[in-house]
Amino acid sequence: MPLAPIEKLPAELIQPIFFYSDLNLALPAASPHIASKFANEYCYHAVCTRYLTTNLESRVEQTLAQTRIFSYKWMMWDHFRSFVLKKWGVNGCLCGKTPKEGCFDAQWPPDFEDATTMLFSRSHLPALSYIKCRIPVKLLSGPWTSDKVQFLRFLLWTTSMTVDWASHEARAAAREGKKEALLTGNLEVVELFNHNRRLGKAPSVDTVRFAVMDAGCDRSIVYDTMATARTWGLRGEAWNCEVLDQWCEGKIQEGDPKGEWLQLKLEELRVTHGAGDLNSGYMDPETGNYEDVDGDKLVITPHKWNQVYIYSCAARPFQDALHPVPSS
Ligand SMILES: [Zn+2]
Repeated sequence: MPLAPIEKLPAELIQPIFFYSDLNLALPAASPHIASKFANEYCYHAVCTRYLTTNLESRVEQTLAQTRIFSYKWMMWDHFRSFVLKKWGVNGCLCGKTPKEGCFDAQWPPDFEDATTMLFSRSHLPALSYIKCRIPVKLLSGPWTSDKVQFLRFLLWTTSMTVDWASHEARAAAREGKKEALLTGNLEVVELFNHNRRLGKAPSVDTVRFAVMDAGCDRSIVYDTMATARTWGLRGEAWNCEVLDQWCEGKIQEGDPKGEWLQLKLEELRVTHGAGDLNSGYMDPETGNYEDVDGDKLVITPHKWNQVYIYSCAARPFQDALHPVPSS
């Protein structure tokens, strides 16, 4: 198909039109030929600044534009990091303010490797915290490269982005992503799924069964999954599972220490001291633990994700009501 006259315009003419249109994203969306003329750092930075850091008139349209931006191919971890450094480096904090403007606990440079080390509170929010668009599908499933894990963790920690549960593609990606993390023994990613209700339901006995029987019972993963399921209300008899009991017996007979360990953890979880007793079903990390056998070492990382609720507790329940986690 021949190019339309506007598609033939050189970059030095079409770029100013894009800026005069207030960076209207419909323009690059209209034609790949036009979009290719905006494929440079200058345009990317301007688009991110306008839609990710400025309060525009229509929040609905802004959120749609943000979702679109995060789904762009160029919006990868490298680019996002350089945008963050360039945008807030001058003031020296992810809250976007100087001490004079109200910053009292500068988080700089950003911890891109592990965003959860950065401290925020309701009175010291990251400038990105008001972003409530969709987590891009490309960040929900494997292969779980370190770039992808760091990017997803950073967005979960500093923004209010959620999975689009109405989208079949997003639901399938999140389901497959979690499954792959369990099967490949990726504790970092399993923790993200376990501790973030924005990434799906809390783990259940089914999840534990999958982690034990299909994914080889990585003890750190199984422990974290069981502990999270307990935190989200799984107590007492809910932990009764013949299949898991049989698995433990089989491993004990084979002389595999995982069998005895898991049997003990299940026994601990099944203990009840009366309804509502917070100590019922407590798993002691020390009981039944053994030294590293063939790389089977129990690693327990402190749960940091509850802190997310401290800074966004006003926004999150509202948001969860808008985007509930599907029941199936
Ligand atoms: Zn600050």
